[in-house]
Amino acid sequence: MSSALEETLTSDLYDQQVKKLYKVGEILGLSEDVLYTLSQPERVIQVKIEIKGSDGKVKTFIGWRSQHNSALGPYKGGVRFHPNVTQNEVIALSMMMTWKNALLQLPYGGGKGGIRVDPSKLSREELELLSRRYIDALYKYIGSELDVPAPDVNTNPQIMAWFLDEYVKITGKVDFATFTGKPVELGGLSTRNYSTGLGVATVAKEAAKKFLGGIEGAKVIIQGFGNVGTFTALFIEEMGAKVIGVSDSKGGVINTDGLDVKKLLEVKEKTGSVINYQDGKKVTNEELLISDCDILIPAALENVIHKFNAPKVKAKLIVEGANGPLTADADLVMKERGIPVVPDILANAGGVVGSYVEWANNKMGEIMEEEEAKKLIISRMEKAFNGVYEEYNKLGDQDLRTAAMAMAIEKVVNAMKARGMI
Ligand code: NAD
Repeated sequence: MSSALEETLTSDLYDQQVKKLYKVGEILGLSEDVLYTLSQPERVIQVKIEIKGSDGKVKTFIGWRSQHNSALGPYKGGVRFHPNVTQNEVIALSMMMTWKNALLQLPYGGGKGGIRVDPSKLSREELELLSRRYIDALYKYIGSELDVPAPDVNTNPQIMAWFLDEYVKITGKVDFATFTGKPVELGGLSTRNYSTGLGVATVAKEAAKKFLGGIEGAKVIIQGFGNVGTFTALFIEEMGAKVIGVSDSKGGVINTDGLDVKKLLEVKEKTGSVINYQDGKKVTNEELLISDCDILIPAALENVIHKFNAPKVKAKLIVEGANGPLTADADLVMKERGIPVVPDILANAGGVVGSYVEWANNKMGEIMEEEEAKKLIISRMEKAFNGVYEEYNKLGDQDLRTAAMAMAIEKVVNAMKARGMI
């Protein structure tokens, strides 16, 4: 079996998500048949995309769209372009979107898409063609009342603009609300770039009030300095915390007296990595995750904190900026050690709240001003955190993830029951 095929057949993230689902299901008293149905997507579409490369050769890519659950409304979730994307990963991420949208009280189900591709190896023309072909293959299954894609890892407003243009051409429907995360000229929200980072920093602040006595002066380490990591760093610094460590795929840098976030951005922009920031100690990503700090924010990859390094983590609070950075085993270790973990479905939901505003605006032909959208994201995130915190206190001996998932799953199950789906 080729290693590519092997990866397609096993996805850690899906296994992790199902484990988390079953754990919460037990607490909610859900039966095995209901849990099984929740673990399965309603539909997964696999597409083959052929493009003629600039060298005249045919390049073939595999992509997916997973539509996990539509009990609460149209499927909603991003599309990632990454060489390691698998069908199971996309299914797992679509399931997480179902819980996230339910938790944030958005009128959506959960969906997610992906293409197995390294976009850095494509020319701009090839990338545009790939994006358009993906929509040619999927246009029957998406729409503003059916399934609403958005950017995720390695996709951006330009790709959403190509998606939209292709969709309009092929269907004849000038329905801009079919995609979110679009450029502002096409009805995109002006907060789009930073909605997720603003949300992560907001819940970190709320959690710090409850668990650390406040955000002021809290020492923060962030893994990942992409969209989520950079804006989280900028906002959390603005809120009074001290960013003492950051990393990207090449490694990290730590200075316990604090890093200058704006300077880090310049260094990253000029040299391609934060490791070239001079005023700090260079560390590996493994070292960064177990370095001394008050708040650790993994905002890069999934499964980076697992049963082997979880006992060594020194942070007093963890906020999941990325999707699925802690494994189910790591959750158990953190609970035992009394380290609260603000779960991904809550912590990084600022992006989809922004998407909702964009979608609703497009539907009504309105445009929300940046300051108003910013306020709305902050207030929705504060409300969601405090709701989960209340549930966490009510449940007693459970962690924040269990509380958040319990609220979300209960909402989805009730909607499914009301509709007669189960
Ligand atoms: P991005 O591609 O903009 O940034 C990813 C960052 O991670 C980069 O700095 C990259 O160098 C770093 N990285 C890659 N490999 C690494 C490694 N091996 N070790 C350490 N760092 C590594 O992606 P993003 O949009 O910031 O997304 C990051 C995570 O947040 C993903 O899990 C994504 O699903 C999740 N997320 C993103 C959004 C959003 O709006 N962008 C919303 C919700 C969740």
